[in-house]
Amino acid sequence: MLYGSISHWRKQLTAGQITPTELVQELARITDAKNPGINAYISYNTDAALAAAAKADLSQPLGGIPIAVKDNICMQGEPTRCASKMLHNFVSPYDATAVTKLKAAGAIPFGRANMDEFAMGSAGQNSAYGHTENPAAPGHVPGGSSSGSAAAVAGGMAIAALGSDTGGSIRQPASHCGIVGMKPTYGRISRYGLVAFASSLDQIGPLTQNVEDAALLLNALCGHDAKDSTSSTHATEDFTAKLGQSIAGVRIGLPKEYLSSGNSPQVTAAINLAVQKLTELGAEIVEVSLPHSEAVVAAYYIIACAEASSNLSRFDGIRYGYRAENTNGLDDLYSRSRAEGFGAEVKRRIILGTYVLSSGFYDAYYAKAQKVRALVAQDFANAFDKVDFILGPVAPTAAPLLHDTNMSPLQVYLADIYTIPANLAGLPGISIPTPQEGALPIGIQLLGKHFAEADLLRVASALENALS
Ligand code: GLN
Repeated sequence: MLYGSISHWRKQLTAGQITPTELVQELARITDAKNPGINAYISYNTDAALAAAAKADLSQPLGGIPIAVKDNICMQGEPTRCASKMLHNFVSPYDATAVTKLKAAGAIPFGRANMDEFAMGSAGQNSAYGHTENPAAPGHVPGGSSSGSAAAVAGGMAIAALGSDTGGSIRQPASHCGIVGMKPTYGRISRYGLVAFASSLDQIGPLTQNVEDAALLLNALCGHDAKDSTSSTHATEDFTAKLGQSIAGVRIGLPKEYLSSGNSPQVTAAINLAVQKLTELGAEIVEVSLPHSEAVVAAYYIIACAEASSNLSRFDGIRYGYRAENTNGLDDLYSRSRAEGFGAEVKRRIILGTYVLSSGFYDAYYAKAQKVRALVAQDFANAFDKVDFILGPVAPTAAPLLHDTNMSPLQVYLADIYTIPANLAGLPGISIPTPQEGALPIGIQLLGKHFAEADLLRVASALENALS
């Protein structure tokens, strides 16, 4: 098994107890055995990983560490399909900046982690390459859309993974699979080479076995990139520097809107346990209000679908990707390629997005959703006048059962209520597992101010220690 953190394996590697080649061989052996059942990876290239391992520079901070990469983050010479039939034959000619940075830090990018098609979904069931199972909760979904990234880490098929989070897609699968998932501040990590879903919300981030590993990956990944115009110029720092420091006196807000009766008893118990542990650590828990919480799901699905309808217009069957056969003229080629290449959820969102942007409806939907977005950001600014961090659930329940066909798309969307706000406001957020003896994994979420990742990780690490 590849259980064990990045620091665990780094110690083994630098002490010469295992070589990078042996580590990749072990990873491939486990993945060959387990992936057919879990479907965490759509594909993986053991030869390429072994070639990288042979050249691994152990003096680098992530030297010799294989990292799983979500299928929407470009890896040169590898398929980048976004789990869609539309991109079934697309091989990326370049590396995403996040992958370039992983390599520069000595890591070995490994595999194309399964996901919901174009990152649209919450359960890992919207993939054109088969659904992903939850290794930590057999019979239940792994969450999504970074379903394969979370399942690979939870299933011992990756030491850590990269995912993307547009409305919760790192934090929610981390919660459902019992691992750590972090969405940094919008702009912290370059989106260059991340296939765009909703560009004003998308952010790459780590899924890891513990908080320290999330900090180690941020060290490698953060920083300005001229190739992404929304990439932040904010100074990076050593995100491990504050781990282990006291959190006495820290003020943590608990939004009253987040203590809904719609949360499962297990989620409520997890929040209560976190409150108790944080109080014991000397933090002060303060009630706050995020009055526009009720409107976040509607605003998010309008904005995300609008941006998706624009971003996904490039998949037209001409330039690359899937092209329908025996078509009758250009219009038929476009419409049949898109009808056959995209799955049902992606089509639903393109149609919704096109509708909310159409003349006559733009002001009523899109412009209004943007106003709500500004109000949500203001709610957080007001709360952060009183507190340093915000505590809440990641999702209202633990992972639903696989193949639960009783849920309508709307019910699925509503379960994103606690993760969406951080994307609308651009804030960093982290999901930390709570120990649940014999029960389904449940994560709790901590949100911080813009660019406060180092402090957010300090609090998350203190809580992680107190919970373990
Ligand atoms: N579940 C959300 C959606 O389907 C989040 C997706 C994401 O973060 N990529 O839009």
